[in-house]
Amino acid sequence: MTQVAEPRPTASPMSLGETVPHWIGGRRVAGTSGRRGPVFDPSRGVVAREVDFASIAEVDAAVAAARAAFPGWRATSLSKRTEIMFRIRNLVDTHRRDIAAHLTAEHGKVPSDALGEIARGLENLEFACGIPQLLKGGFSEQVSTGIDVYQIRQPLGVVAGITPFNFPAMVPMWMFATAIACGNAFILKPSEKDPSASLYIAELLKEAGVPDGVFNVVNGDKVAVDRILEHPDIAAVSFVGSTPIARYIYETGTRNGKRVQALGGAKNHMLALPDADVDMAADAAVSAAYGSAGERCMAISVVVAVGSIADPLVDAIAARLPKIVIGPGTDPASEMGPLITREHRDKVASYLDSGPSQGADLVVDGREHPLYREGKGFFLGVSLLDRVGPEMDCYRNEIFGPVLEVIRVPTYADAMALLDANPYANGTAIFTRDGGAARQFQFDVNVGMVGINVPIPVPVAYYSFGGWKASLFGDLHMYGPEGIQFYSRAKIVTARWPDPGTSKVDLGFPRTR
Ligand code: NAD
Repeated sequence: MTQVAEPRPTASPMSLGETVPHWIGGRRVAGTSGRRGPVFDPSRGVVAREVDFASIAEVDAAVAAARAAFPGWRATSLSKRTEIMFRIRNLVDTHRRDIAAHLTAEHGKVPSDALGEIARGLENLEFACGIPQLLKGGFSEQVSTGIDVYQIRQPLGVVAGITPFNFPAMVPMWMFATAIACGNAFILKPSEKDPSASLYIAELLKEAGVPDGVFNVVNGDKVAVDRILEHPDIAAVSFVGSTPIARYIYETGTRNGKRVQALGGAKNHMLALPDADVDMAADAAVSAAYGSAGERCMAISVVVAVGSIADPLVDAIAARLPKIVIGPGTDPASEMGPLITREHRDKVASYLDSGPSQGADLVVDGREHPLYREGKGFFLGVSLLDRVGPEMDCYRNEIFGPVLEVIRVPTYADAMALLDANPYANGTAIFTRDGGAARQFQFDVNVGMVGINVPIPVPVAYYSFGGWKASLFGDLHMYGPEGIQFYSRAKIVTARWPDPGTSKVDLGFPRTR
């Protein structure tokens, strides 16, 4: 890996002014639709700035810029594209604290979490630096006398990515790293809740030498999304977000003839078998449930305690909760920040009423945290619900907040029946000291990403990310080898160079033997 300078120690976060614009054709473009949305500072509970919402015409302008840039970009040599990918990688690494500052300011996540997100995004950029190898086709010599067949992979053209609020840097990198490395021109529609990181990254891409128009950002809401789904010049759409919208994106995009991968919501179960190490399982459950305030699609939201482990495990989890330091990301001591909006915070908190009213035990109530009761930010303390049942609203919905639920089941078979009945299947984990049980779980479970004593099994960048069932609509998972497949298409060439003197008319079907 190329040596890079150490990141600057201090972040210089905001340079975007009061309104976050679009990025079209290699420059910031102020919105003209007259529509804007608020971008909050969730730690303080105030509107920090606004973001422009694109009109149909503004999306069209971005698509036109991308379309104009595409022929030159796809013709750019693999060596040159690789060089640019390396430069992007190094610039993102060098400026990771600046990007993290944007995440803390608008998403609210604490710096260690923000830097972790960027590090996982960097892995995708590093993977994309291997694009010459990844785009290699195949060659078969002499498939018939004097005839060779080979496969080449070509970019699709203009492709788009629509991303969620909870990973404002990593999920765009999941998409654009492989998309542009394959030779496509890319349009990003980030979450309107925390859009600044995307604009900042756009500037880094320009600095890295990405030609104008190859990477564009249109900010906005459903108007922009719907135009992306309809636009005849967009060949493919990647989406990450909630399940109802993922389903809508998949259905609308494919109806309009596009290639679509749409990743949806999650309800990730962690099985704790009776032989698991209680302290290790408790540490893992707490880290995976409350990190990023539970706003991770791979967060553990349900611990399935099998048999006798339930009592000691619930005690061990509860004992850890008072030690979690909750506060703004600007305080170096904070381990967990606020939620994204007041509305979302209140929705999450509502399950702390509905759960107990439907029979669950509220072991720890996050509403008792002083920042919930007295603070102006969108804070909620960590909560633990025990003796949850599958019929309860808190189990049936994706809470997406710092609420961990425990379901007690007598046997492994009961645990598996619970997982099978759940509509989501993004990630899951098992904690056990029994290798045979873990292997059986890996064989049995109908979930896309599995951790064995690993609570957040997000695949490394050279594998692909994706759930099953209502957690993913489409055929190909995101990033890694399947990302390359998604953003390129195969062309098969059959070639011969015969002596023209041997040429004759032959109406028979081509034979190979
Ligand atoms: P969301 O579905 O509300 O929004 C995602 C994107 O869709 C945003 O860009 C948003 O502007 C757009 N959008 C929202 N409503 C729309 C509508 N009606 N029509 C068209 N576009 C619309 O999701 P979110 O709240 O930003 O993110 C949290 C969700 O994302 C959770 O459900 C989480 O599980 C999921 N998520 C999944 C993964 C995964 O890999 N499976 C990763 C991260 C987040």
